[in-house]
Amino acid sequence: MKVLIVGGGGREHALAWKCAQSPRVREVLVAPGNAGTAAEPRVRNVDIAASDFPRLLELARREAVALTIIGPEAPLVAGIVDAFQAAGLRCFGPSRLAARLEGSKSFSKDFLQRHGIPTAAYRSFTRGNFDRAWLRSQRAPIVVKASGLASGKGVVIAQSLDEAEAAVAEMFSGRFGDAGAEVVIEQFLQGEEASFIVMADGEHVLPLATSQDHKRLQDGDLGPNTGGMGAYSPAPVVTGAVHERVMREIITPSIRGLSRDGTPYTGFLYAGLMIAADGTPMVLEFNCRFGDPEAQPVLARLESDLISLCEAALEGGLDRVEAHWDRRAAVAVVLAAAGYPDAVRSGDPIAGLDAAAGRPGKVFHAGTRRAHGRVLTSGGRVLCAVGLGDRVSDAQRQAYALVDCIRYQGMQYRHDIAHRAIARELSAAAGRPIDATRQGGHG
Ligand code: AMP
Repeated sequence: MKVLIVGGGGREHALAWKCAQSPRVREVLVAPGNAGTAAEPRVRNVDIAASDFPRLLELARREAVALTIIGPEAPLVAGIVDAFQAAGLRCFGPSRLAARLEGSKSFSKDFLQRHGIPTAAYRSFTRGNFDRAWLRSQRAPIVVKASGLASGKGVVIAQSLDEAEAAVAEMFSGRFGDAGAEVVIEQFLQGEEASFIVMADGEHVLPLATSQDHKRLQDGDLGPNTGGMGAYSPAPVVTGAVHERVMREIITPSIRGLSRDGTPYTGFLYAGLMIAADGTPMVLEFNCRFGDPEAQPVLARLESDLISLCEAALEGGLDRVEAHWDRRAAVAVVLAAAGYPDAVRSGDPIAGLDAAAGRPGKVFHAGTRRAHGRVLTSGGRVLCAVGLGDRVSDAQRQAYALVDCIRYQGMQYRHDIAHRAIARELSAAAGRPIDATRQGGHG
């Protein structure tokens, strides 16, 4: 069969690489893909943007694509799955209405509240009904979020009420376009974050391996927020007991609530969680797709056939399948371009990809393109190096050995991806209580 992956980032490279391993797949098409997907065996790029629904539909028909998997949120929120379904084509992802869980934070918070699912206390406002006196009566730190899609950049953790008010004003003034026309202001939650990603079929859920990402640009979780500078799987903060609570208190009621609201959810569902010190999970956000960079380490550990899991989901049969995981840990280090996350420079030649390909682990591409026989940077997040190992520290060492092969002008990356998990590992080995603030460097 032929499979189509829509998108062109690191997540889509990982999806295409995984699908191409299925014995049932003859060819994987990626639209538009990147230089990494172009070089992958049994994978072919097609130069169509993820937003160009008519041409994607035409491609799926012409190539007799049996299954399409949508990577990024923007086409999902714009209704690509509805368009494919209306044309009688099988497409894995949530409908436009279900994807509002990510497309509108205010919708998603109202949904959580309506169904009694734990999340930070909040209020949402438009410019017309903004209640400044209410904001002034709150306590800092407080969190201000643009309600619409803002590529992970529309969140401000305000350390004072003045800062919160300035963030609200900035959002209403159009800094994030339409995404900031409505804002959510919510209570600041303490704890450790984890990414809990599941596959859903409208009714049943198959939880994927847990993961944790690093959103800040610099070592020690400092600097500006980004789309994600690295991730690892599994996330030790999600113990068996926490996993059970997340399923019972968050995932199951969410899937049931969506179904009861008449918008059943099929696709990858990503719950960004804050786990309090006592193990209580709360929802920070929902994403309507696989995480990026979480997809890279999670899919690197998936031993089951992804195609069969997606098909089971489209048939409403996720209760009848299981996912098998490599027991090793995976650590993924993102290599970003000069200037990221602000004004990104593109077009820098990348050296060392061949050397990296000869080493254990895997380098997934994100913002790359091929020109005149060379691979050039072409986006904020450029590559993602994934290592596997029995211990998280082994996986980290393998990932950074790949990073050490690669060079381009202005390359930025963090040196401490997975530091929390490694701190836990070291503490457990020494029989000491856990101090998650300790750093676990890679070298
Ligand atoms: P979001 O896009 O809503 O997940 O927010 C991006 C990041 O901001 C999260 O990964 C957290 O690090 C942080 N964040 C968001 N909401 C809160 C909150 N209520 N309390 C503490 N941190 C938050």
